[in-house]
Amino acid sequence: MSNPEAMTVEPAALKVVDYNVVNKELNAEARALRSKIAMRWEPGDLTEYIRCWSEEDVLDNRPCQALVVILKTRGCTWALAGGCTMCGYANESAWTKVGEEELVAQFERAWKKYNNEELVKIYTSGSFLDRFEVMPGAQKRILSIIGQKPKKVAFESLPGFVTDEAFAPLDGICQKLEVGIGVESANLLVLRDSINKGHSFDAFPIAAAACKRHGVSVKSYLMCKPPFLKESDALTDATRTIIAAAPHADMVSLNPTNIQANTLTDALHKRGSYRPPWLWTIVQALLDGRTAAEAAGFRGMLKSDVIAAGQSRGAHNCGTCDESVAGYLKKYKATQDKKWLAECLAKVECRCRREWQLTLELGPLIPVYASL
Ligand code: SF4
Ligand SMILES: [Zn+2]
Repeated sequence: MSNPEAMTVEPAALKVVDYNVVNKELNAEARALRSKIAMRWEPGDLTEYIRCWSEEDVLDNRPCQALVVILKTRGCTWALAGGCTMCGYANESAWTKVGEEELVAQFERAWKKYNNEELVKIYTSGSFLDRFEVMPGAQKRILSIIGQKPKKVAFESLPGFVTDEAFAPLDGICQKLEVGIGVESANLLVLRDSINKGHSFDAFPIAAAACKRHGVSVKSYLMCKPPFLKESDALTDATRTIIAAAPHADMVSLNPTNIQANTLTDALHKRGSYRPPWLWTIVQALLDGRTAAEAAGFRGMLKSDVIAAGQSRGAHNCGTCDESVAGYLKKYKATQDKKWLAECLAKVECRCRREWQLTLELGPLIPVYASL
């Protein structure tokens, strides 16, 4: 049995945190909510991965199969110290040290399921390049197991860990690497007082430049409607962030906030103080963001994978038009042609469209802070 108080974060790991982008109250709240995570008491077999499956994805603008592996690590450095208000990744973290041998053993077990997928995605519920979470020896050994066969290997990392020093030992082991970076917003207030992100937008171009120096693709994850934002603010923030992130990224992924257990968004949602974004907002942000980014020369991929689309815990409209709007988002993702976004707004007629427009113009009728 693991001691829930035993996992202290190394000061050297926390050097990636920018305390100008930390909201102390939100951080304390996020930390308290994470004390309820079941795996803190029972992390289970540390040589057993969390999950592994094969799924459809896109590679070089065409459909492909991807092997997805979620490793059980000690967890995201920032989540262990409090962390982002909407992130439930810590629910799948061991909250205790997981060593190099154990991480490699997990991956060897998962790799038995490899079936010639062109893309391999390794998720750690944190940062693959965080040497305190996935030791450099484990990073190198895992990528060496994968080798040259898949066309691309993707993982995620906090920007502070995306450095020349981290990449140098990994250069050339696989055909192509891709790093996903949680940019979330280009707005400092949103990053600090809504998300409690722990790093500013400025960390992203620096990390992206390190990726470019090592021939690594850059994927940026943006958040649409983190807590305390009105729908209109969420639309403006998502659109502006697409425009700001696009010049540094090969792929921009706009993630509508969804409700994950043991997070502040979950607590707010239970009190009736948080609604995930409307699907209309996602379509409008993608259309406006893509139009402006293309005009500035962006030729990469911009997409939005809506988790729990149409459900109250995910981005949703009224229940009647959700499937139809989600269908347009899928067509847009597959073709990257913004005409599908414009057609969605022009052709899907639903009574909730007016309600969404009124929400944008007037904001919520009950202030979001009212029931806090
Ligand atoms: S969103 Fe990323 S940085 Fe924030 S707590 Fe989750 S894993 Fe950590
Ligand atoms: Zn509707």
